[in-house]
Amino acid sequence: MKRLRKVKILATLGPASSEEAMIQKLYEAGADLFRINMSHASHDIMRQLIGRIRNVEKAVGRPIGILADIQGPKLRVGKFKDTKVELGIGDTFTLDDDPTPGDRTRVNLPHKEILEAVQPGHRLLIDDGRLQLKAVKTDGRSIETVVVSGTHISDRKGVSLPDSTLGTGALTEKDRKDLEAVIATEEVDWIALSFIQRPEDLAEVRKIVRGRAGLMSKIEKPQALERIDEIIELSDALMVARGDLGVEMPIEAVPGIQKQLTRACRRAGKPVVVATQMLESMISAPVPTRAEVSDVATAVFEGADAVMLSAESAAGDYPVEAVSTMAAIARKVERDPNYPSIIYAQRPQPEATGADAISLAARQIAETLNLSAIVCYTSSGTTGLRASRERPETPILALSPVIHTARRLSVCWGLHCVVTEDATDLDDMVDRACRIAHREGFGNPGDRLIITAGVPLGTPGATNMLRIAYIGSDGQSGI
Ligand code: PGA
Ligand code: MN
Repeated sequence: MKRLRKVKILATLGPASSEEAMIQKLYEAGADLFRINMSHASHDIMRQLIGRIRNVEKAVGRPIGILADIQGPKLRVGKFKDTKVELGIGDTFTLDDDPTPGDRTRVNLPHKEILEAVQPGHRLLIDDGRLQLKAVKTDGRSIETVVVSGTHISDRKGVSLPDSTLGTGALTEKDRKDLEAVIATEEVDWIALSFIQRPEDLAEVRKIVRGRAGLMSKIEKPQALERIDEIIELSDALMVARGDLGVEMPIEAVPGIQKQLTRACRRAGKPVVVATQMLESMISAPVPTRAEVSDVATAVFEGADAVMLSAESAAGDYPVEAVSTMAAIARKVERDPNYPSIIYAQRPQPEATGADAISLAARQIAETLNLSAIVCYTSSGTTGLRASRERPETPILALSPVIHTARRLSVCWGLHCVVTEDATDLDDMVDRACRIAHREGFGNPGDRLIITAGVPLGTPGATNMLRIAYIGSDGQSGI
């Protein structure tokens, strides 16, 4: 199945979309890869979903990426005697290490590291910012605060700390167990890491993952933005996690940050996903709002690699409609007469590598000669990433002998990935490219395409060859 758009769709699975038939419907409606949210999925459910996605992959005959999203240090207060207490502006309220149920004056905060990290003056945002507290006195075991805004607090509400850098690593005990279970399946292509604060957090996770999945850093804390260049350098991909970002930062700062991050990732040639509330109203309605359509369109115009659905596909009433709406918006935007000039205004300069020089040349030749496809052989995925970074108008076919590479690249802008054995020699390489291009709908007999590869084949990081070929009358190579 060939998609008629370049941007990819990442759909979160959940109660509304856990059956195999539904996952297949979402794929057919346009979802290119799926997110399993480890904040909600048990290990059994995670393994079940993976099995079902892999069955769908077999049924549709296309590589499908799987992303496991690790909860990270999402902090929550303890419980109250009466579930919920009312608070007024100016009231004093304390968070402490006492595990007994809370009341109008205090509640337990079962995270020693926060009790130690928060300093007077820091803000504590409870329940996605609905209640704002300001620390006035701290002693390492309790934080005395005053209520700045909001009216109540209740059991297990989330706590965001936009002003405090926590002394914890990126992973909680739960995260470590989840990560081990996810890696043990050997079927997960991307690991998304929530609440990354520092580049060191990634180094810690990388030691555990050891290349068995790509690392996608979710940018949802101001601390991460302070060291964003190093974080991008150490990540394989980024997610603009606008949900928590909009709590931890002034909400009006989020669109600018989205632009900053999509541009930085395009420069670095790392996939970037724009996430959260993209079609939020479709959780309970079959059509989106105008503002949501514009929001998805903006991400597409920015050249994001992928756009994500959260509750819309995981828990909403219209999961299939949400995916097909997103796909329809993407197709329309990518055919807009202003799309090329907007997206190409941000085209990055090539870096001084063979893969970049060849990807740039392939794009120029393909556009000059109006070729039907750019076919790139990529075993590690590096050449695929560099071809995608060029954002060519010409469709890109990424051929890899490694299924894991094909699945991982499913998040990348414009790549149609196909698994095929390594070519035996140059003729086989050209024949194979033409045959697959024809079969996958990337060219008809008589059309020409351009092939990029590293010769000898199968040597990662050695892209050094460009070749123009045409599809013969039998769908094979004409040269
Ligand atoms: P979440 O992350 O859906 O796991 O919270 C995305 C976000 O915060 O935007
Ligand atoms: Mn989040």
